[in-house]
Amino acid sequence: MKVAVIGAGIIGVTAAFELAVDGHEVTVFERRAAVAEETSFANAGVVAPGYVTPWAAPGMPARVARYLLSKHAPVRISLPLSRAEIEWMRQWYRACELPAYAANRSRMQALAFYSRTRMRDITEHFQLEYDRSTGYLVLLRAENDRKLAEPGLQLLRDAGVAFKELGQAEARAIEPAINPDTQFAGAIHLPDDEVGNCRQFAMLLKNEAQTSGVNFEFNTAVDPLNPASPGLLRVWLLGADAPTERRFDAVMVCSGVDSAALLRPLGLEIPLAAVYGYSISAPIREPLNAPRSAVMDERFKVAISRLGQRVRVSGSAEIGGAPEKKRASSLQTLYKVLHDWFPGAAALAGKGAGVQEWKGARPMLPDGPPLLGASGVPGVWINLGHGSSGWAMACGSARVVADLMSGRKPDIDVEGLGIERLRG
Ligand SMILES: Cc1cc2nc3c(=O)[nH]c(=O)nc-3n(C[C@H](O)[C@H](O)[C@H](O)COP(=O)(O)OP(=O)(O)OC[C@H]3O[C@@H](n4cnc5c(N)ncnc54)[C@H](O)[C@@H]3O)c2cc1C
Repeated sequence: MKVAVIGAGIIGVTAAFELAVDGHEVTVFERRAAVAEETSFANAGVVAPGYVTPWAAPGMPARVARYLLSKHAPVRISLPLSRAEIEWMRQWYRACELPAYAANRSRMQALAFYSRTRMRDITEHFQLEYDRSTGYLVLLRAENDRKLAEPGLQLLRDAGVAFKELGQAEARAIEPAINPDTQFAGAIHLPDDEVGNCRQFAMLLKNEAQTSGVNFEFNTAVDPLNPASPGLLRVWLLGADAPTERRFDAVMVCSGVDSAALLRPLGLEIPLAAVYGYSISAPIREPLNAPRSAVMDERFKVAISRLGQRVRVSGSAEIGGAPEKKRASSLQTLYKVLHDWFPGAAALAGKGAGVQEWKGARPMLPDGPPLLGASGVPGVWINLGHGSSGWAMACGSARVVADLMSGRKPDIDVEGLGIERLRG
């Protein structure tokens, strides 16, 4: 089949790759000049399937309300919210009930475990070399943080995830650069998890996809789909006075936060919100002071990742606001957490420091799991709404949608991952 993929973030690149594996003739349209220039650009890089979980969780509404008053809050609301954002929050609130949370969590985790295996197979098969290290350490500042983490540990046990509860000394043995002056209650170590540079992986996989015949057209924006003929795309090459029309047998929408706008003319209302997050990336100043892999400060929900010669600190979830406006206090929280745990790890100031401060928009559905598969409109397929775990779920999602498109049964149960969930 002649298939168009709209968007070359991590979701679009992995989808294009898998579609080519299945023998389709694939063209990827991307409005930016390269792959992974938007949300997939500078995320934390954590691939920890046992920690992939919906934000709509029991107790979250009360926690979010408390955060409103806190200086270093992991979740923020930028007022005023649009009507769509208010409606999104209403749906999110409903999905916080335990039965919905439990179902969505197990759907996401099944996909994430499957995805990690697929990602590792691809990495090994093509010998992809990107910044990557193994192990994930969740740091618990105080006894209360340890207590709050307990229910999650039972879920890890139930899911058969390998982890170890550690005291302070054992945690320091795994990450020896942790600030000797920072006292903490303990940590949870997940030896099978990893951190990897999502953007580098996307760039390398794009090369493999090209070798398999995928055609990438950059600087090319696609108009919202036409209900009269969804396979006929209107595409705009950067700077052109008029669009050109291109016909495909099938279209796969992998357009991150913009997916909803592309699908709206087809009568599909996808409740997708941009939940903003931030990262700072800086060169390592002294390797002995830097983390070896990824750690997560559980209280502030901030990840500190080692990505080759750089440290990346990321976190914050902001509903509302604008993509170009960076909130100073969110960035300050990242610097504070880095300083608490790994002072002196990164070159943050001075000539040639090269610190990158970044804001990205998580394409988030109110209840958690992404939407994969047929859209209900003939010829239109979706692979969207991966929220805060798109890197961890990308390779699995791509295989699932490719299988569904080819009429094959995917390797995992896809109940609740299709668009019919929205009608449930
Ligand atoms: C601070 C932060 C930390 C994160 N940490 C992690 C993490 O540790 N682990 C993890 O798994 N996930 C993490 N994520 C989430 C992850 O980054 C996202 O889920 C993922 O990048 C989404 O990928 P995507 O391809 O759907 O979107 P994008 O990367 O945004 O790609 C969509 C692409 O579509 C293109 N596009 C849109 N509309 C059009 C159009 N009309 N025509 C042509 N092109 C179009 C855009 O230009 C863009 O390139 C994090 C996110 C943030 C913000």
